Amino acid sequence: MKIDLHSHTHYSDGHLSPTELVLRAHQMQLDVLAITDHDTTQALAEARMVQAREKRHLEIISGIELTTRWHGFDIHILGLHFDEDDALFQQRLLQQTHTRVERARQICDKLAKCGIEHVFDDAMVKVGPGQITRAHIAQVLLERGEVSSFQGAFTKYLGKDKRAYVSANWIDIATAIQWIHEAGGVAAVAHPASYDMKTKWLKRLLAEFSALGGDGMEVTHPNMQPTKKTLLANLALEFNLKAVVGSDFHFPSRWSELGKRLDISSELTPLWQDWECLATFNKESI
Ligand code: AMP
Ligand code: MN
Ligand code: MN
Ligand code: MN
Repeated sequence: MKIDLHSHTHYSDGHLSPTELVLRAHQMQLDVLAITDHDTTQALAEARMVQAREKRHLEIISGIELTTRWHGFDIHILGLHFDEDDALFQQRLLQQTHTRVERARQICDKLAKCGIEHVFDDAMVKVGPGQITRAHIAQVLLERGEVSSFQGAFTKYLGKDKRAYVSANWIDIATAIQWIHEAGGVAAVAHPASYDMKTKWLKRLLAEFSALGGDGMEVTHPNMQPTKKTLLANLALEFNLKAVVGSDFHFPSRWSELGKRLDISSELTPLWQDWECLATFNKESI
């Protein structure tokens, strides 16, 4: 079974539409795909509609990547396999949308003080009906020639503690877990190796997440070094967290693709082990 539980569409900072993402998942021979846009589930309806017309099976899992704040770090929490039509959950997400828009305004105010004006309006045109992210702002800076690369927008302006960085009023981790659980889903720490924190802090994060009732953590990434993979596998075992695999796909490139190189150690318990919709798959080897 080929599974990828972390992907984005143009409803957040992915480049593909939900339709294009589903068709790409077929091309890549995926059996299971979770769409996990930043703080929105808007892509799911279109994705399911397109899949309903396809002959080849693809199990689409509801997903989201919630932004939280923990000791000064922006920590991303994946919500998976919940009821995307849950009215309370959707209402709660409006708070995150509000935080995103307000933070984007504040970032653009800081950019204006650096002499780069009216970025917000240009970014919102790119966003369309989805969620604004720093990636949209980075793209505007790149297109205007203010930076020479997308990455450069983060190292110069948007990254943690850079000139236009804004520490936003995100929900805390406990709230994210609660929202996801109350919508019937499971919660997992996204890309634990990417937070630029010492292992001691990472352990603190995972211990707290587990104690708060969190269910799992991502344990691999397509380009992850074997030593990192071993570290994450050991941490998942130590903190009793189930394993999640995902590519964090945003767009096709030489480095990122759906469902590639996401194998995990057999010692780990897959988070999707009990999902009824995968019962036929889970009887086979993964
Ligand atoms: P946001 O959720 O609005 O803070 O934006 C975060 C998104 O921006 C991430 O999911 C990445 O896709 C992208 N991003 C964040 N930091 C970087 C970085 N240093 N380089 C490139 N992309 C980044
Ligand atoms: Mn992203
Ligand atoms: Mn993330
Ligand atoms: Mn992501």
